[in-house]
Amino acid sequence: MPIKKLLIANRGEVALRIHRACHEMGIKTVAVHSTADTEAMHVRLADETVCIGPPPARDSYLNIPNIISAAEVVHADAIHPGYGFLSENAQFAEIVESHGLIWVGPKPEHIRTMGDKIEAKRTAAKLGLPLVPGSDGPLTDPAQARQLAAEIGYPVLIKAASGGGGRGMKVVEREEDLESLMGQAASEANAAFGDPTVYMEKYLVDPRHIEFQVFGDGAGNAIHLGERDCSLQRRHQKVLEEAPSPVISAEQRARMGGIVAKAMADMAYRGAGTIEFLYEDGEFYFIEMNTRLQVEHPVTEMISGVDLVREQIRVASGLGLSVKQDDLVLHGHAIECRINAEDPETFAPSPGTVKAYVAPGGMHVRVDSGLYTGYTVPPYYDSMIAKLIVYGRTREGCILRLKRALEEFVVEGMKTTIPLHQKLVRDPEFQSGDYTIKWLEQWLARQQSEGPPA
Ligand code: ADP
Repeated sequence: MPIKKLLIANRGEVALRIHRACHEMGIKTVAVHSTADTEAMHVRLADETVCIGPPPARDSYLNIPNIISAAEVVHADAIHPGYGFLSENAQFAEIVESHGLIWVGPKPEHIRTMGDKIEAKRTAAKLGLPLVPGSDGPLTDPAQARQLAAEIGYPVLIKAASGGGGRGMKVVEREEDLESLMGQAASEANAAFGDPTVYMEKYLVDPRHIEFQVFGDGAGNAIHLGERDCSLQRRHQKVLEEAPSPVISAEQRARMGGIVAKAMADMAYRGAGTIEFLYEDGEFYFIEMNTRLQVEHPVTEMISGVDLVREQIRVASGLGLSVKQDDLVLHGHAIECRINAEDPETFAPSPGTVKAYVAPGGMHVRVDSGLYTGYTVPPYYDSMIAKLIVYGRTREGCILRLKRALEEFVVEGMKTTIPLHQKLVRDPEFQSGDYTIKWLEQWLARQQSEGPPA
């Protein structure tokens, strides 16, 4: 069924991203927003707007009854959840579908399975994906945990089954710490996710984070669009992403891509998904699957030429994928910098009013952001205010262009992480591509100890 009017159940740059895809497809948009987002760019651009509540997300962007009522009032036929908020809430997906609306996302049962990381690992194992060695179920008894850790070998990692955003993880170096760290992880998980279930994984000491973009039509056809390297992280949160990974060969891409695409075809997966792996010594280890669009999806769009939001909408409307694996040619290199309203040294949030805004431009430069001069960044939500995505025919060319684009970027009125990215892309080690998930934090610590330039 073709979609005529789509409700965007999100805010910020991703809401704008979805609005843009819709308008290019001739689909009308409805922005639902909190009272803090009345002046947001996507709200200004949307065909219709509905205020769904006060600033706290639980009262607005997570308020299911208000969002569904808004959809009914404006006669929307579809809901796109973006990322974060309700995007991986299987119950919300079911409610959307039970109201006769099109859910622009995966089948609810797949969201549910992959949302529980223990179930996700079991499913991945059945589908033939390589796993990080670890428990094959929840950890309950400390004696069982001790035995398992001894078999796997220290260090081990305790992770929350309902975890996300890098929270609820504890590295255990020695047996004597195991029981107390297990308890801490479980209570943190309970506080953050309302679920104390934890499991154990071997702690890989120095891996890279490499993830594959997949897409299914829900009827047993699926493709992969190559990998993204998201190893540059701070507190397990991604800071800069690139595609392709500087360390993956065409043969590895074709082999692993083939495995993940087949896994998605076998489960008749529908829509966009990301299969995340850790990569160490030439081996991939599945850690989780995200059943949604990712923040870093534009780097894949840049090297594939495929509009992933458009494909999501096509698949949800029953039109199927517009690309076949054999037609897909990945070319060149793309890098994304996440720009946050934060102090670039302390990372303290720095919301405020934009006094001046100049986005970089020129060939192969893309800025996804809802900022404009006079706009006030509300303090209630995620601090990411812009994504700068740059393409080059080679990685070297891409980095040169990124340096240039970062020099042009002006956001006045608040602190941003632009200076951090300016320094980072000048670093010879970053430029060499030889980094792992630990590298950025070590680099940041070195910057702090060196202090500002004299
Ligand atoms: P979340 O859903 O909370 O983001 P993930 O399972 O995706 O959790 O892991 C987030 C990050 O934590 C990874 O990108 C990696 O940096 C680190 N990590 C996760 N599992 C392991 C592991 N077994 N060994 C080492 N690091 C890990």
